[in-house]
Amino acid sequence: MQPAVPATSDARMTEPVPFLDLNRAHAELRGELDAAWQALVDVSSFIGGPPVERFETAWAAYCGTRHAVGVSDGTAAIELALAALGIGRGDEVILPGNTFIATVEAVVKVGARPVLVDVDPDTLLLDPAGAAAAITPRTAAIIGVHLYGQPCDMDALGALAARHGLALVEDAAQAHGATWRGRRAGSLGTIACFSFYPGKNLGAFGDAGAVVTDDERLAEAIRSRANHGRPRDAAERCVVLDGNHRLDALQAAMLSVKLPHLDRWNRARGDIVARYREALADTGAVMPTIRPAASSSHHLAVVLVPERDAVKRRLAAAGIMTGIHYAIPCHQQTACAGLYAGSEVPVLPVVEAAAGRLLSLPLFPQLTAGEVQRVIDALVATLATTEPLASGRAA
Ligand SMILES: *Cc1c(COP(=O)(O)O)cnc(C)c1O
Repeated sequence: MQPAVPATSDARMTEPVPFLDLNRAHAELRGELDAAWQALVDVSSFIGGPPVERFETAWAAYCGTRHAVGVSDGTAAIELALAALGIGRGDEVILPGNTFIATVEAVVKVGARPVLVDVDPDTLLLDPAGAAAAITPRTAAIIGVHLYGQPCDMDALGALAARHGLALVEDAAQAHGATWRGRRAGSLGTIACFSFYPGKNLGAFGDAGAVVTDDERLAEAIRSRANHGRPRDAAERCVVLDGNHRLDALQAAMLSVKLPHLDRWNRARGDIVARYREALADTGAVMPTIRPAASSSHHLAVVLVPERDAVKRRLAAAGIMTGIHYAIPCHQQTACAGLYAGSEVPVLPVVEAAAGRLLSLPLFPQLTAGEVQRVIDALVATLATTEPLASGRAA
């Protein structure tokens, strides 16, 4: 006789599967987080100081760079990196059409023109051939976005940037701990930008970000710009009008508690993604390829599915919460219309085809095996009644 199925005491078998649940990560570290907060209140020094310096040192060491500068958020990190490189009015900056809008915003904020190019249909990352074709005499930099956690092709982009004398900026906001040929994201270009938005692989308790680089001059320029344009060694002297983009001591303290767990959490994410990949192999869902030279931080578990909106609705009805990254390509966003006043809006076929098919499955390190199985079962059942994609790629 089969044993009776026990009445489940695990509410996680019946409650909705969240897309992301930060509570579970913070429950693991509650004592340490509380102690870090207490220590900060005891000192009551909230801007700069030892907590920020400690985190900057640890983050540079983690990334394998000489310098890290904590800043207010990931968008500011990109903007400050571009400004420190001297990029501004009259310059063009090449970036992939498949990215979070923040990458575009940062380019526009420094006064440069964003040139959006198409992505590789297998990885959905910046296509080096597209980047090469977009270079003009005004091109000043390329921003490689390590979207979903996988570094973009840094061999090809590095060679391209070197050939044309361009800065290569990494938008590593989704790639904490990812590697390219064994080297960590952040150490692969001229300068790299991180976000510690709470939902990222390493997340703060609010907004936070960092810039990392081996170039001391760039690091000090960013440090100064982030702090009302005042160089570290001349606190009374303002050398550039920029504003306040500092990292809070509170955020730095929380990030220092979480950093030692990042690699373990990334491995747990990778295990979950591997289960998704295996279970979805012959279902009509396609996951972006990870290149042999790359290891991903697995920020998002992205699948391309036919009839995406219907699939998303059916998963929601089955209690599976999902996201879309990103539903509207940057070049088609309302706010970007002005960029193309008097010229054609570019056509980016891979980005545009993918936008209608992308679906991000639940993914965070503490997702249980039972929850992962529920996601798989629901998606497999849903896809069984959906027409497969015409090709096994995004476009
Ligand atoms: C999150 C993110 C940013 C912006 O970071 P914020 O901290 O939210 O400003 C930039 N680029 C990418 C690819 C991101 O995912």
